[in-house]
Amino acid sequence: MADKSAKSAKNVAGKYYVDTNCISCGQCVDIAGDFFATDKDGGMYVKAQPNSEEGMALCEQALSNCPVEAIGNDV
Ligand code: SF4
Repeated sequence: MADKSAKSAKNVAGKYYVDTNCISCGQCVDIAGDFFATDKDGGMYVKAQPNSEEGMALCEQALSNCPVEAIGNDV
């Protein structure tokens, strides 16, 4: 489970976030590139929150595939 007390600084506000345990494997960007982006300083961040069922489904897929559970949806 992601740690909402350790969110990456660049996440946009909203339901989904990436925490600092991210190992930059790139899977979330491959799955949901409209919502996740690479931070040039390391790690990933949520660049946009989904506002459709389809977008939510992609974010949930990215969350469940993250190998280190660094993606959260618990605000
Ligand atoms: S899937 Fe998880 S570990 Fe991989 S880049 Fe995304 S947030 Fe980081």
